Amino acid sequence: MKADAGHGVSVRIEACSKTFADGTRALEPATLDIARGETLVLLGPSGCGKTTMLRIIAGLERPGASGRVLFDGADVTAVPIEKRNVGMVFQSYALFPNMTVAENIGYGLKIRGVPARERATRIAELVALTNITGLEDRRIDQLSGGQRQRVALARAVAIRPAVLLLDEPLTALDAALRDRLRGELDRLLRSLGITTIYVTHDQAEAMALGDRIVVMSKGAIAQIGAPREIYFRPVSRFVAEFVGAANILEAEVVERRLRLPGGFLTVAENVSQTHAVAMIRPETIGIVAVEAATLAGRVESVSFVGDRQRVVVAGAADKPLTIEAPNGATIRAGDTVGLAVAPDAIRLLPDAA
Ligand code: ATP
Repeated sequence: MKADAGHGVSVRIEACSKTFADGTRALEPATLDIARGETLVLLGPSGCGKTTMLRIIAGLERPGASGRVLFDGADVTAVPIEKRNVGMVFQSYALFPNMTVAENIGYGLKIRGVPARERATRIAELVALTNITGLEDRRIDQLSGGQRQRVALARAVAIRPAVLLLDEPLTALDAALRDRLRGELDRLLRSLGITTIYVTHDQAEAMALGDRIVVMSKGAIAQIGAPREIYFRPVSRFVAEFVGAANILEAEVVERRLRLPGGFLTVAENVSQTHAVAMIRPETIGIVAVEAATLAGRVESVSFVGDRQRVVVAGAADKPLTIEAPNGATIRAGDTVGLAVAPDAIRLLPDAA
């Protein structure tokens, strides 16, 4: 949560569903509470309903019957977007190409009748905050993609919105710039304390920016939780695989032990089932001496990936395990290795999905 939850509002989406005129079911009834000042990320594959949910919060789309949107407890379902005090940034920045940077940032203030002196002060603050000092008098078509993105953000927050809605704002940028802006955006959102709802299909972006993440699949909420919870304690195979690399293995369970072809692993959870689907993140598997391990396998391949090495070990589980190991140890294809996994790094998933 942000330190200064200044002027954000809490947002509640209650039983909001959406079926479009052509019969497309974009959203199953969803209920969601977003705390004042929180950054909530909607994460999911293309077409899962993220943008639809965002547009319902904005007031650009009406939810199906009995669906309600509440800001600080007040029902705004019938309130049009211009009266909701929301700021929006889309993937395509939708800036005014013929206006200068300063005019773009000040636009919302001008139409709200904010006097010129106050406007100038506010624009100067935002220019500094979004790192675009010196560009105030440039036209939009004279800016780079990253600069345009900053202007779009500055314009959206200039009106001091109660809720900031961001729909894949970094998607159009190259990888290096995205990384840098992600950090800047995180700092900016935290310093402003605006309640923010951020749509992305990029799990790294979601992890870095979200106080909580809502993982969506086919119009429904698959899981809501803090980034670490979603990553280490996914509730389904879909979530496990969507938010990161995952080893999914099947095993018999006997007395809190997964019985595997190459030995066994102890799980933390007390399970009643005799057959389990387990998820283990590649970086939580340690490569140790065979004598020190309860599980062993044969190294199938080792690839150097820069800051670490990716090791594939066969024969330990029902399928080859992928391990992200530190560079230190020399591991060769053909070696027999022991594998160690902390019990709480093994997540048991429901059998289905
Ligand atoms: P993306 O990441 O590709 O933007 P998304 O998760 O934001 O996807 P939505 O834009 O919410 O997905 O769309 C959800 C579903 O609703 C999709 O199947 C989409 O084709 C459909 N849809 C969106 N808008 C309309 C519309 N106006 N009429 C009919 N169907 C629509």
